[in-house]
Amino acid sequence: MSAVPTIQKAAVVGTLGQDVLIKDFPVKSPQELAPGECLLKMICTGVCHTDLHAAMGDWPIKPKTPLIGGHEGVGEVVAIGKDTVDSPVKVGQRVGVKWIANSCRNCEHCRKGLEQNCEDVLLSGYTVNGTFSQYVVSWVHIVTAIPDELGSEAAASILCAGLTVYRALKNSQTNASDWVVIPGAGGGLGHLAVQYAKYIGRRVIAIDTGDEKQKLTKELGADHWIDFRQTKDLVAEVKRLTGGKGAHAALVTTAMPSGYTQAVDYLRPGGHLMAVGLPAEAQFNAVIFDVVFKSITIHGSYVGNRQDAEEAIEIAASGAVKCHYVTKKLSDIAEVYDSLSKGTIAGRIILTMDV
Ligand SMILES: [Zn+2]
Ligand SMILES: [Zn+2]
Repeated sequence: MSAVPTIQKAAVVGTLGQDVLIKDFPVKSPQELAPGECLLKMICTGVCHTDLHAAMGDWPIKPKTPLIGGHEGVGEVVAIGKDTVDSPVKVGQRVGVKWIANSCRNCEHCRKGLEQNCEDVLLSGYTVNGTFSQYVVSWVHIVTAIPDELGSEAAASILCAGLTVYRALKNSQTNASDWVVIPGAGGGLGHLAVQYAKYIGRRVIAIDTGDEKQKLTKELGADHWIDFRQTKDLVAEVKRLTGGKGAHAALVTTAMPSGYTQAVDYLRPGGHLMAVGLPAEAQFNAVIFDVVFKSITIHGSYVGNRQDAEEAIEIAASGAVKCHYVTKKLSDIAEVYDSLSKGTIAGRIILTMDV
């Protein structure tokens, strides 16, 4: 193990809404780690739309400043706090950092498996510094072990996008061969959702637009494709493809309110609408009569707990789910934010820690 430096490079946002800059930033010394804390030497990190929302201060609850963003990273444990009891990970192991940086494991929500709703939750790259730095302080009980078969870059986006869609599918109360509609199926969350859905034996209707995304979703195993730009009546098309009955579940990741309204219309009676993703604004315009009359269940599904993460990672390690990504460097982050805000990124961006 190489010695831990005292200074590292990190991508820092000084004031919300201003530019992200690569700066020198202190590394917490291994001797100062509290019990339960671990220091990770980062290998890579994904960049998520959430990071841009955080840097811009888009959401009602503001992040800390100065802010180091990032919440889907993989690193090697280089130190564990003195007097840490029962650490499930050891020095030298590769582990993943998630949006949920830590939870108390003792409050009502934690006891019910809703660690993401913990009363004392810490959020990576939001309320605590995240993965856009060469070293990260994390917590031994919440990091996710990365199996040897899964590369670090392939694992990164499973820790956020993959975990989020996997949990939503898991809780969609669908059975094998049920129809699941995935709007935005060619995007960052969507392309992983198609693969997880096929892995658990669901039939998938992929909705997105353009030849490239059609080709991608077909390759990933989607049973049907709807181009929303070329289809006059999307609701009628979903019904036609499902034998006139409608879909059993919809996994809606879009920030567009129409994506939710349409789902209420194309779900069959007893259907489940899984609301995921975190748009800065957007209201849910459902016709209450339809929701009640069709016995529709609407679930808010917010990332996932440690168990969901472990399962999502194991499935990816088996080779059944692969994230499509492009690799860049930490020092490219300003340019990546720019592309994210313009919506010109296909798949996910993974940053190595090079500057
Ligand atoms: Zn994310
Ligand atoms: Zn808790």
